[in-house]
Amino acid sequence: MTQPLLSVEGLKKYYPVRTGLGRPARLRAVDGVSFAIERGETLSLVGESGCGKSTVGRAVLGLLPVTAGQVSLDGGRIDNLGPAAFRPVRKRLQVVFQDPFSSLNPRLKVREIVAEPIRNFWPDLRREDIDRRVAEVLDKVRLPRGSAERWPHEFSGGQRQRIGIARALSAEPDLIVCDEAVSALDVSVKAQIVNLLQDLQEELGLALLFISHDLAIVEHMAHRVAVMYLGKIVELAPRSALFAAPRHPYTKALLSAAPLVGPRAAGGQRIILSGDVPSPINPPKGCSFHTRCPLAVGRCRIDEPALRPVGPGHVSACHLDDDSDAATGGRPRLS
Ligand code: SF4
Repeated sequence: MTQPLLSVEGLKKYYPVRTGLGRPARLRAVDGVSFAIERGETLSLVGESGCGKSTVGRAVLGLLPVTAGQVSLDGGRIDNLGPAAFRPVRKRLQVVFQDPFSSLNPRLKVREIVAEPIRNFWPDLRREDIDRRVAEVLDKVRLPRGSAERWPHEFSGGQRQRIGIARALSAEPDLIVCDEAVSALDVSVKAQIVNLLQDLQEELGLALLFISHDLAIVEHMAHRVAVMYLGKIVELAPRSALFAAPRHPYTKALLSAAPLVGPRAAGGQRIILSGDVPSPINPPKGCSFHTRCPLAVGRCRIDEPALRPVGPGHVSACHLDDDSDAATGGRPRLS
């Protein structure tokens, strides 16, 4: 078996908080997440707002300390490195943020924005070599070379996102975390940026951790998809399997609510979930989805389901996929 580029094992990120009564408590933003990403692969993290997907992205990037678990790059652990040891890792892991307006320094020209990582990671490079690299990266993101002399406010949202991608590319990374990177863009611009990312991935062999709540984009973009609910991955599968035949009741509900993706695109019914997402300060016992699951059985309130294989490269955490009839009370399996 080859070593994955990035491997995340049992990742937890808890925040200390106080309850309404002033008692100390822990907010479980991420609660035991594991996945791996190969070179040149796009893994998408999806789920409702607040499910922990962006926290996973920030933990992978080393932007916040983890509570437990491990993050490894090419087999070497990176979550426990100090600032100096993390520096070469930072070059290999870059990020493109959601908001193309606030993520660029308005006081720097595009040349300086794109050159910043180059100066940082290749401090001995001469000015003309830096300028040449900036020009090459602008070519890659299909912006005119003359853009280098302009200010961020002179560009549209889509062009700014290209600048953000150019900044990430200038470090020559192995993996880019795209945190809702196209969510703030108009539909046609969104498609252009997604196509650009795919072309760059093909050309440069980039891996992408693509965090998004937009399932139509994810269906177009991802090789594999991990569905998160309340800080945990509840299903992980190759894109085609997840969209054609989702197994977890939460995934089914999520896809049924999205326009023109998954079973609903083939005429399936929309599944309306009752209730709100429980608080990550006090998550439910057993299956964390049981308070909203239309298929919950008694065991769901007591035992937490483990991720089980349900197909090639496909895992789902639901007791209804347990092969033991005792576990389900003889109820039929999910189709
Ligand atoms: Fe629903 Fe139970 Fe499956 Fe959880 S384990 S998703 S509550 S059926």
